[in-house]
Amino acid sequence: MEIIRIASYHRRDFDLAVARTNPRDHDQVRGALLRAIRTMSSTLGNLELLPLEIIHEICYLIDIRSLLNFRHVNRRAQQIVRGTRGYEAVVTHALEALCVILRTNIASWFTLNDLFKALCTRDCRLCGSFGGFIFLPSFMRCCFACIREDSLPSILPYSVIKKCVKLSPSRLYSLVPTLKSLPGVYSMDEIVRKRTRIMATELVSRLSLQGEDERTRLTQSKETALLRYMATTSLPYLDTESGGVQYGICCSGCQIALEKALSSSGVGSNACTLLDKVYSYEEFMQHFHECREAQNLWELSNQGVDVAKVSESVRRGGCFNMRDVIMYFNSK
Ligand SMILES: [Zn+2]
Ligand SMILES: [Zn+2]
Repeated sequence: MEIIRIASYHRRDFDLAVARTNPRDHDQVRGALLRAIRTMSSTLGNLELLPLEIIHEICYLIDIRSLLNFRHVNRRAQQIVRGTRGYEAVVTHALEALCVILRTNIASWFTLNDLFKALCTRDCRLCGSFGGFIFLPSFMRCCFACIREDSLPSILPYSVIKKCVKLSPSRLYSLVPTLKSLPGVYSMDEIVRKRTRIMATELVSRLSLQGEDERTRLTQSKETALLRYMATTSLPYLDTESGGVQYGICCSGCQIALEKALSSSGVGSNACTLLDKVYSYEEFMQHFHECREAQNLWELSNQGVDVAKVSESVRRGGCFNMRDVIMYFNSK
């Protein structure tokens, strides 16, 4: 863990490129959601006729929106929801994602267990690398490279889908998970976007309600590149065995190698390709044994005793993009 602390950093700029809320808003909410509740007076009325295990099972199987609505009934309901499997882990480690899920109106399509399963999945379903994100239309664990390189399942705005499907909006919304994206700043290019309704193309085409022409139009329509940033949010990985939480780390040594290459020749080096690589702790330790600059950092820090000398970009959690790194070093 000391090597990881000294020679790696988390890419905060990746988290900022997707749907997000302000983490500072959550601390008080988290405390309230996790508060131990002792209640003697309130009851759930007729529902209490069921054995407690059955009530917990219902909580486990209903969608997230209904579960949180149920929690509002009274203190007894809060107490029961508090004891639902996965609730504590999700509220403790995935509250930011949970808030995005609620605000984007996708919460009624998935259960708390779906979110808990994604939280406990480490790697991107598409490429197998460490995945620090969740693709909201299907609750699929994914990585930033797959978001950036357009490897996610196809999604389209409702404005395009409605031209291909002859269904009323309310009927379509009842059949296909519809994400109401958050207004905000998206992608590494920091582009401002308003709210947009987004649907997974595959789910719409499965409805078999279109003619051949509409189906072709649906599958050939190109999503606007920003939609995939609007339909994902960051999600840490919870290792249930150790209880450890990982957000994904990049190599500070590779950043230093890139900066050296840029300031000397300006030509790309191997470090350029490794710069955006996000590792799990285990993967990073394998990389560390091959990365001379990361080992240098570790040695220069006197094996973690001293503060490591890292660049501005590492200190800022990568909140310079590649273009900014080049500008930064040109200006020196
Ligand atoms: Zn991936
Ligand atoms: Zn490295």
